[in-house]
Amino acid sequence: MTTTALSLGTFDVAVVGAGIVGLAHALAAARRGKRVVVIDRDAQANGASIRNFGFITVTGQQAGDCWRRAKRSSEIWAEVAPQAGIAIEQRGACIVARRPEAYDVLAAFQQTEMGRDCRLITPAQAAEHVPALRRDALQAALWSPHDLRVESRTAIPALARWLAEALDVTFLRSTLVRDIAPPHIDTTRGWIDADVVIVCPGTDFQTLYADRIAAQGVRTCQLHMLRLEPAQPIPRLATPVMSDLSMGRYLGFAELPQAAALKQRLAAEQAAALEHGVHLIVVQSADGSLVVGDSHHYGETVAPFAPALVDDVILEEFDAVFDLPGRRVRERWVGSYASADDKLMFVDRPSDDVRIVMVTSGTGASTGFAIGDEVIGELFDSQNQ
Ligand SMILES: Cc1cc2nc3c(=O)[nH]c(=O)nc-3n(C[C@H](O)[C@H](O)[C@H](O)COP(=O)(O)OP(=O)(O)OC[C@H]3O[C@@H](n4cnc5c(N)ncnc54)[C@H](O)[C@@H]3O)c2cc1C
Repeated sequence: MTTTALSLGTFDVAVVGAGIVGLAHALAAARRGKRVVVIDRDAQANGASIRNFGFITVTGQQAGDCWRRAKRSSEIWAEVAPQAGIAIEQRGACIVARRPEAYDVLAAFQQTEMGRDCRLITPAQAAEHVPALRRDALQAALWSPHDLRVESRTAIPALARWLAEALDVTFLRSTLVRDIAPPHIDTTRGWIDADVVIVCPGTDFQTLYADRIAAQGVRTCQLHMLRLEPAQPIPRLATPVMSDLSMGRYLGFAELPQAAALKQRLAAEQAAALEHGVHLIVVQSADGSLVVGDSHHYGETVAPFAPALVDDVILEEFDAVFDLPGRRVRERWVGSYASADDKLMFVDRPSDDVRIVMVTSGTGASTGFAIGDEVIGELFDSQNQ
């Protein structure tokens, strides 16, 4: 182990990675009275956690642990956001059905435990929540009260600032963690002592525990994102919106038996969307612009070139659902997250005092807070019993 001479301090818990997953662990540890340091190689948040929709999605998450964690995380977001000065931009979700097969999925979902508080509504009722909808193109919609939306690119820095100011969490930025051998953590700026280390590296599969991370079968998933500006100001969208393609991807819908007919029809009618992993999420920002996505391309290393064709496929679905002539693309970006075929997340335990935590399903904003609380609870709460 290479150890630089400078000591950067002694802590109860060191968290590697200042994305939402790392911040969630920092919150859970600080709330238990632990002295926490968060270390990140970047000068400011730059990973998936600021590139996403900020859609804290409960409705549509896989039944069981994922849905439960999303529900719990949305409660934590709702509690923390006002304290951290983070605005909740939208509440709830509206999942619109363009096809009868999609309506069948929504109707079946509503009968599940996850759909208990959701309502099946007409296109006209959906347009009361989301005025820009192309209601003549819709069969019906499902309205859910569970979901939230924050503006990630400002919310994540605000969350970190609040953790530092209100809960005394120390942040070391522009600092790469090179090696971990508790209690010693070797970084590019010096060494840290910590009893417990939580590694939340996002898509960095190589720097720390490369062999253990490789054993989890992870790869990178890259997504295209767009910010659209309506031609003129539009009434606010009360909720985020998803459509038929989302019901083919989100496991809370896609694993229902009724989804088979929908998937078959989507394969016949929207082959390009399926080829590029496109489905529709539309959320609105405070300035009225819409964040629209997304696509999914997988690989060990994904090429940085973002073909315009993929954006066109996303926009085609957008225009089938929204009636906003003259809308223009104001911004485009890509983001990536860790993905695994056989699991939505994992917690690996290289030793008693180290955890590697990775969300491998593009649901970190939705489930991170609950995961952080579980991992920190498992490490510390039993000691107090
Ligand atoms: C375009 C897009 C849209 C998405 N939409 C949603 C959504 O609406 N809802 C949802 O729930 N999820 C969404 N996701 C998924 C979600 O954003 C991720 O699951 C989540 O952000 C992962 O958080 P993280 O903290 O693990 O990773 P990151 O945000 O990538 O953070 C990891 C951090 O670790 C740091 N790091 C890594 N290794 C080291 C090291 N050795 N030393 C120091 N620092 C290190 C990195 O610099 C980075 O800052 C989306 C993702 C993308 C890309």
